[in-house]
Amino acid sequence: REPVLEIKNFHVDYGLGADAVQAVRDVTLTLHRGEVLGLAGESGSGKSTLAYGVTRLLPPPGVISGGSVVYHSPGGSYDVMTLTDAELRKFRWAETSIVFQGAMNSLNPVHKISTQMLDVIKAHEPDLSPQARTARAAEMLKLVGISADRMDAYPHQLSGGMRQRVMIGMALVLQPQIVIMDEPTTALDVVMQRQILAQLVELRERLGFSVLFITHDLSLLVEFSDRIAIMYGGRIVEEARSSDLYKDSLHPYSEGLLKSFPALRGPRRELSGIPGSPPDLRGMPTGCSFHPRCPHAFDRCSTDIPLLATPSSRNDPTRSVACWLPGRTPVA
Ligand code: ATP
Ligand code: SF4
Ligand code: MG
Repeated sequence: REPVLEIKNFHVDYGLGADAVQAVRDVTLTLHRGEVLGLAGESGSGKSTLAYGVTRLLPPPGVISGGSVVYHSPGGSYDVMTLTDAELRKFRWAETSIVFQGAMNSLNPVHKISTQMLDVIKAHEPDLSPQARTARAAEMLKLVGISADRMDAYPHQLSGGMRQRVMIGMALVLQPQIVIMDEPTTALDVVMQRQILAQLVELRERLGFSVLFITHDLSLLVEFSDRIAIMYGGRIVEEARSSDLYKDSLHPYSEGLLKSFPALRGPRRELSGIPGSPPDLRGMPTGCSFHPRCPHAFDRCSTDIPLLATPSSRNDPTRSVACWLPGRTPVA
């Protein structure tokens, strides 16, 4: 599959100078056309910061301190980092739509859902006639399973599940190439997240957009996404096809995450989790930042930072891992 968004050597800091928090470090990640890519990792690993960074929506004191984000549109390719404000506004809605952490409760309670949806279309496609706008809104709501007679409902008149579908409809109404969902319900509401992801997977088959889905819940990603990237301490530590990650994870942190939820099939595994807590970004451990918690750590781990690369033991370019264990380092 061809790439639609190529993030390269991307760095984000909060603050400047010696006090800066290094929230995203050297992230290289590609989203392909039509795929669902999952991004998982514990709280504070930098998932939201990465999503805000690549769409240039970082709130201060966030600063992008390096890297490029190349977007391949049907009309040509460009670096998102060099866009003007006007170009960015267009990019954010028409090309990429982002649903923020917890946004499922953010519909405006005083406006009908049809009005909210029409406003989005009007703001971004002012040339469309009112009839065409209404038709687009109705079509989008129908697509997410909301019938025409509910279009004039207010958010409080809809069930939680329907409100979510409206949010998905809003994210898709301008027919973006990329949809980024950052933990769209509360982190605890996994049942809802599951419904959203299932719906997105079905819609992308029909509409052909790409999805970056961010969640704490790796089991969701194993079930629904094509590929998974695992983040720890601001870095991607492993990237693989979902089935490969599930059957044969290579990074000890991925292994720990996989063990912290019950197996999808087969006998239930014990919920062992990962001992210790995520690193403090102000005092990041030297070398591999996972080493204080890693059951396999050895000398080199506390001095040298392992970089993400295809491991020598798997001759497979779809796999990459950042770990010093034998067989997991790149071919010399
Ligand atoms: P969660 O799963 O809880 O949403 P996350 O993986 O999305 O976590 P981020 O929100 O990206 O993590 O945060 C990454 C790191 O950046 C954290 O250590 C956080 O404390 C830090 N951080 C986030 N926002 C700021 C800020 N405005 N100023 C300073 N540090 C920040
Ligand atoms: Fe563990 Fe070392 Fe691999 Fe880091 S590099 S995950 S500490 S074995
Ligand atoms: Mg977050």
